[in-house]
Amino acid sequence: MKRIGLLTSGGDAPGMNAAIRAVVRTAIYYGMEVYGIERGYAGLMNEELYKMEMRSVSNIVQCGGTKLRTARCLEMLTKEGQQRAADTIKKYGIEGLVVIGGDGSFRGAKVLSEEYGIPTIGIPGTIDNDLEYTDYTLGFDTAVNTCLDIINKLRDTMTSHERICVVEVMGRHCGDIALYSGIASGAEIIVVPEIRFDLDEIVAKINKSRSNGKHSNIIVVAEGVTSADQFAKNLQAITPYSVRPTCIGHVQRGGSPSMADRMLAAQFGNKAVRLLKEGKGNRVVGIRDNKIIDMDIIEAVSMKKTFNYELYETLQMISM
Ligand code: ATP
Repeated sequence: MKRIGLLTSGGDAPGMNAAIRAVVRTAIYYGMEVYGIERGYAGLMNEELYKMEMRSVSNIVQCGGTKLRTARCLEMLTKEGQQRAADTIKKYGIEGLVVIGGDGSFRGAKVLSEEYGIPTIGIPGTIDNDLEYTDYTLGFDTAVNTCLDIINKLRDTMTSHERICVVEVMGRHCGDIALYSGIASGAEIIVVPEIRFDLDEIVAKINKSRSNGKHSNIIVVAEGVTSADQFAKNLQAITPYSVRPTCIGHVQRGGSPSMADRMLAAQFGNKAVRLLKEGKGNRVVGIRDNKIIDMDIIEAVSMKKTFNYELYETLQMISM
């Protein structure tokens, strides 16, 4: 394989730049050319691509966001759009493609592999950690660390004023950001889309913690359930303690990637190019039990994300 393409798609995630760097440097190491495609699949529609060199990826390993930009491209959902994307790939002599993104981006990659015969490798880049086949996605660790930093600060003021804070975190339909940031911050309660919640039970838990000497409470709510504002309003109506909502918002998506995300990025990017070099396509890379793995893309996107109930129980037992 002489020339590969690379794009980032869907929501940006810290570590995407480090993965871009790893892909470009590994490809150049193997004597391949790399074309960077801008704005995800939209860049394929509009022929926005350029040849990347060794120095194109200097000084980005520590940067959040994505140097190649990202976009959501509705045209890629249509037959005509998919054909245009495949035409651009063929026109530029691109023999293999690396797609960094979430499950939607992988579905686009699957179409290019399956229907147009373009060997494609997916790198899981999304803060949501919503892909079942991999223990972690790129950006999740940094996003959780950002949440922790903010929750630590909120705890200071909530304790001083003896309040309850409802903190809204991202994750779309997946509760992993709430689960991990809840456990690691010592939050008393987490509310996730995977588990039905009962406001009366939450109030009972708060009352019990207060009678046990607690001066503040942190409730982490996943955006897939409700907003911090709404949840705080409902809670305030039935508790005498003062409740304050905070929505962490897009801060979670930015920032310098953590060591864990940079290490994942280096290994995912390297593995993706190695797979293409070995003549493999239609696969995704991931990490399972601390080992870098690859898997059939169709199998990976058809797996349903499961929730870690054991971790949830751990939180229940140690946060009171
Ligand atoms: P994140 O999880 O961070 O939101 P994502 O990759 O899941 O990332 P999506 O918006 O779902 O984000 O998908 C990104 C892009 O992938 C879409 O804008 C579209 O261009 C393409 N895509 C999504 N689903 C499909 C599909 N079924 N077929 C072809 N292309 C798709």
